[in-house]
Amino acid sequence: MAAQRQDLELVNVTKRYGTALAVDAISHHFKSASYTCLLGPSGCGKSSTLRIIAGHETVTSGSVLLAARDISNLPPARRGTAMMFQNYALFPHLSVIDNVAFSLKMKGVDAKERRAQAGEMLSLVDMTALADRLPDQLSGGQQQRVALARALITRPQVLLLDEPLSALDPFLRIRMRTELRRLQRELGISFVHVTHGQDEALALADEIVVMNNARIEQAGPAREVFNAPRTAFVARFMGGHNVIALPGGHFAIRSDEVRVSAPDTGLMAGQVVAVEYQGNHVSVTARIAGDQEVIALMPDQHFFNEPKIPGDTIGLTWEQSNLHELTA
Ligand code: ADP
Ligand code: MG
Repeated sequence: MAAQRQDLELVNVTKRYGTALAVDAISHHFKSASYTCLLGPSGCGKSSTLRIIAGHETVTSGSVLLAARDISNLPPARRGTAMMFQNYALFPHLSVIDNVAFSLKMKGVDAKERRAQAGEMLSLVDMTALADRLPDQLSGGQQQRVALARALITRPQVLLLDEPLSALDPFLRIRMRTELRRLQRELGISFVHVTHGQDEALALADEIVVMNNARIEQAGPAREVFNAPRTAFVARFMGGHNVIALPGGHFAIRSDEVRVSAPDTGLMAGQVVAVEYQGNHVSVTARIAGDQEVIALMPDQHFFNEPKIPGDTIGLTWEQSNLHELTA
């Protein structure tokens, strides 16, 4: 039971903006001390869900529980959550350390204690050396570290992050992603991170919650959601899969589990329509019966031993156990 104490729970949470349904009766249990990514296309209701958890938005119906306490009607500062915004929202006229200490000042904590705690948070995000700078003297990545320290100084049980990496260049994005995961482990609190990037979710999350059209389409450990998508939407959105209609229904098969063989061998014939070199792999797209396309990701050695070009006829095959039946 002790391990469950800090769990966050959404129970039938619905959010309407006028007649628009942004969140449709979502229920989910976020385990304490876990890293969860809310993943889905733009407009599916991710930010609304996060803002409802944070208390920046009220629920239309349903409830939010943290540590078994109903927090649905509490103001943001009293929920035990903290939010890091996409645009960081730092105070331009305050130094880094004063930005981080700001919420303690509002609470009436004395100056010495404020600086001590803010200093500790800055060291956590590796920003000690820049404590006296102003925000506009920092790079985007550094501003983000300050925003993180500022959210964490409130000692939240749950840190909420809305697309925290989207403003960074690709190199920095991958570095910060590693940092976020390290921080979550070190602090032992829950992170709920909104993203529309499936790579980001796979790299970070213990659990992925895939949203579509205001609902949860599938939730589970990252590897399970990737390997065993339940719907065509999840298979397509996670990427790396073919969705094929076969006698008996619709199925997903990972592209790297499709093998290319000689014509008149394998499970079915295909005609190559595209070949793309991708470094470690070569992506071979083939048209099969029913005007469907199947992508086979071939290890580069394998491909260059027997190169294919558009127009070639090939055989395609896979293990039946790698085929996942889809519900829609
Ligand atoms: P996401 O973060 O997944 O892109 P949002 O939660 O921001 O999605 O939005 C979900 C839906 O709710 C969208 O259709 C959006 O247009 C709508 N929406 C979000 N915020 C508001 C608002 N303040 N007023 C009206 N509609 C909104
Ligand atoms: Mg959003």
